[in-house]
Amino acid sequence: MSAYDVDLFVIGAGSGGVRGARVAASLGARVAIAEERFFGGTCVNVGCIPKKLFSYGAHARDDIEDARAYGWDVAEPTLDWPRLVAGKDREIARLNGIYQRLLESRGVEILRGRATLEDPHTVVVTALDGSTTRRTARHVLVATGGTPLRPTFPGADLALISDDIFYLSQRPDRLLVIGGGYIAVEMAGIFRGYGAAVTLAYRGALFLRGFDRDVRTHLAGEMRQRGVDLRFHCDVASLTRRADGALDAVLTTGETLVVDAVLAAVGRAPNARGLGLEEAGVALDARGAVRVDGRFRTSARSVYAVGDVIDRVQLTPVALAEAMVVAHNLFGGAQRQADYEFIPSAVFSTPPIGTVGLTEEEARAEATERGGAVDIFRSTFTPLKHTLTGRREKTLMKLVVERDTDRVVGVHVVGADAGEIVQGFAVALRLGATKAQLDATVGIHPTAAEELVTMRERCPDPDRALEVDQLAEGPSPRRAIVHHRWEDSDDR
Ligand code: NDP
Repeated sequence: MSAYDVDLFVIGAGSGGVRGARVAASLGARVAIAEERFFGGTCVNVGCIPKKLFSYGAHARDDIEDARAYGWDVAEPTLDWPRLVAGKDREIARLNGIYQRLLESRGVEILRGRATLEDPHTVVVTALDGSTTRRTARHVLVATGGTPLRPTFPGADLALISDDIFYLSQRPDRLLVIGGGYIAVEMAGIFRGYGAAVTLAYRGALFLRGFDRDVRTHLAGEMRQRGVDLRFHCDVASLTRRADGALDAVLTTGETLVVDAVLAAVGRAPNARGLGLEEAGVALDARGAVRVDGRFRTSARSVYAVGDVIDRVQLTPVALAEAMVVAHNLFGGAQRQADYEFIPSAVFSTPPIGTVGLTEEEARAEATERGGAVDIFRSTFTPLKHTLTGRREKTLMKLVVERDTDRVVGVHVVGADAGEIVQGFAVALRLGATKAQLDATVGIHPTAAEELVTMRERCPDPDRALEVDQLAEGPSPRRAIVHHRWEDSDDR
C-alpha cells in the first residue's frame, strides 16, 4: 500500500496539466487534478482557440469581398457579433467537456476549487462553497499557467485584457490596442477585419521585438495598408471614462484618442503566488516563475512544474511537451529532457506570420562570433489569388542559411497560411536541412510555399544599416526559443 492518496496531484487543468494527468494515468499512476476555473486553461478558453475562431471570422470578410472578383455577386456583409460570440462559446463548452471526459475516462479524480500546497506532499482544495478536500501525493505537478499583466498608468483598470476580449457583448467601433507582442498584433488585425477602427500603440521603434526585422517591417506595412493605425514610440499615459461611456486615452505623444475600448496586451505573468509554493520550499525566480531543472523538478524534490508558470516558452505545444517529459520520467521509466530546439510559432496577425529558427539578425550575430557568414534568400510577391482580386497584399518569404555549412537555420513567412507552411519546414530544420536539399526538393505548383524551394538569388551582403538596431533593443525574447538548453542541475 502506498503511503500517499495518489501518485500524482496536478494543480491546474490547462494544456500542460491535463496532458500530464492523462499521460501519467495511462502509465498506471493514480492521479488527481484540481481546477478552479475552466478545463483547458487559457488556450481553450481565452487564448489560442477563441482567438483562431475570431481570426477565421475576421478573414471571412476578405473572402466575401474577394469572391466578387471570382464571379460571385455578393451583398455587402453585415455583422451579427453576438452570433459570433455565442458560436465560440458553444465550441468552447464542447471542448471543456472533452477535456473533462478525457480525464474521467483515465480514472483521474477531478476536484473543483483552488488548490494550495500544505507541504510538499499535501494539497488542499478549497471549493467555491468553502469546503475543503485534502490529498497526499507522492508527486505534485504545478501547471497553473499565467495571467495577463495590466499596465500601471492612471485609469489602466478601464482597459480590457485578453481574457475579456472574447466576451464583449458588441464589437467596439473604435479600439486602441496597447503592446507590440503576439496578442496585440493578432487582436489589432482581428478587430480591423471585423470593421473596427483600430489604433495600436507600441512603446518601441517597431513591434514584435525579437522577430526577424524584415518580418516586422513587412507586417507593419501590410497592417497599415489594411487601415490599422500603428503608432510606434507611443504608449498610453492615462485613461478616463467619458460621460457617454467612451474612453479618453491620453498618449505619451500628448494626443488624446477617443475610443470605445482599450485592450492592454503587455505580456503575461506566471500564476505562482498564493499557492503555498514558497512555504513548501518551491523557489521562484525574480519574475515570480517557478524555478525548475532540466526535468522540471523544483527545489522541493516532490514538486514539478511545467508550462507558463515556469515562464520559459509561453506556447501551448511546449507546455504539452514538458508535461509529457514529467509523466514519462515519473511513471514510464524514461530519462527525458524537453527539447527546445527549433520551436516553430505562428502569429495569427493579418496577414499571419510563420517562423522557425534564427532571425537574420540573430544568425549574423552568431556567424560573426564564430567568424562565419550568413546567406539570405528573400522573396516578396503578390499571391496568385490576388492577381484577380487586385488586393494589394504581398507575401514575404525568407530563408536564413549558414554559409559554411549550407544549413538552413531560419524560415520566415508573412502571408496567407504562414503557420501551415512553416510547420513542415520546422521538421526539415530540426533534421538539419541544407539549402541544397531545399533546392533539390520539387515544388508544388501553383502554391506560395513552392517559393521556399525555388529561391536561388541570394540577397547581396548587407551593409544596409539596420532600420531598427535590434541588437540595441535588448535580449530577444525569441532567442531563448531556439537556443536555450536547461540543464539538469544548474538552473534551479
Ligand atoms: P508578449 O510578451 O508577446 O508582448 C508583450 C508586449 O507588450 C511587447 O510588445 C512589450 O514591449 C509590451 N510591453 C510590455 N510591458 C509593457 C508596458 N508596461 N507598457 C507598454 N507595453 C509593454 O506578450 P503578449 O501579451 O502579446 O502574449 C503573451 C504570450 O502569449 C506571448 O509571448 C506568447 O508566448 C503567447 N501567445 C502566443 C500566441 C501564438 O502562438 N500565436 C498568441 C498569443 C499569445 P517590448 O517588446 O518593448 O518589451
